[in-house]
Amino acid sequence: MGKANLKVRLLEHTPNPEKLVAMAARLCYSPAQIDDLAANVAQSDQQAFVKKLLDMGHYSAIEHVSFTFGIEGVSRSLLAQLTRHRIASFSVQSQRYVGETREHNARGTFEYIIPETIEKLGPQAVAEFAAQMAQIQTWYDGWVAKLGGGRSAYEDARFVLPNAAETKIVVTMNARELRHFFNLRCCRRAQWEIRRLAEQMLHLAKEVAPVLFADAGPPCLAGPCPEGQLSCGQREAVRRRYGVT
Ligand SMILES: Cc1cc2nc3c(=O)[nH]c(=O)nc-3n(C[C@H](O)[C@H](O)[C@H](O)COP(=O)(O)OP(=O)(O)OC[C@H]3O[C@@H](n4cnc5c(N)ncnc54)[C@H](O)[C@@H]3O)c2cc1C
Repeated sequence: MGKANLKVRLLEHTPNPEKLVAMAARLCYSPAQIDDLAANVAQSDQQAFVKKLLDMGHYSAIEHVSFTFGIEGVSRSLLAQLTRHRIASFSVQSQRYVGETREHNARGTFEYIIPETIEKLGPQAVAEFAAQMAQIQTWYDGWVAKLGGGRSAYEDARFVLPNAAETKIVVTMNARELRHFFNLRCCRRAQWEIRRLAEQMLHLAKEVAPVLFADAGPPCLAGPCPEGQLSCGQREAVRRRYGVT
């Protein structure tokens, strides 16, 4: 069976992100030379200053720092949602260049994601889902063979692959876009797979830039839920989960 699990890593980030943001923002208000500013931005001072910037909504200063994540074990369905975020940069494993035939996959089928709702139905439902993936594998292999094999065949054989097919992504976002992404995708209204990804990305980002992301997350952390009738109604539980009292 080709079941894949979510794996997220923070591959790289701008070194000393909060120091850089503080320095860039100080430049706006100071007649000093850049070298002097860079030398004078002290650690203790930075954090209070970054917090003040965020409280003031001076968000352009946080665009100077970016974070690059490596993501595996997510579906093409997630990919379609993630790539709607236009202020991000993406590299995605290509179904044109990377074959998904049985020989390419040690476990017998292409890797795929099983929704938890189907897993919760029990082993029979999981087996049914796996059988459907195996059927798709057979169709895919058939088209690769009929189209002559190799890369030129993958390009059109992939049309039968499902949304469940696993993909791997490298994504880079600056801190402003990341905060916006967390606002939309950590919300319980977001679809479960992208929400799980966003939560893990937030956890990793907070480890290296705790002040920049201290208040990041769904909008109900900062105020009333903006979703109106579509609200999950779980505001207090969500706030507790994020440690907001
Ligand atoms: C719960 C939920 C349900 C959704 N349901 C659907 C759905 O049913 N159908 C659907 O198609 N999509 C849906 N989406 C996707 C949604 O419409 C957005 O495409 C996605 O969330 C990206 O948001 P964004 O455009 O704000 O972000 P980004 O593309 O990351 O942009 C960030 C911000 O930059 C600014 N910006 C970027 N590009 C422009 C531009 N061209 N012009 C002006 N300002 C710009 C905006 O202020 C924007 O908010 C859903 C999203 C969520 C979270």
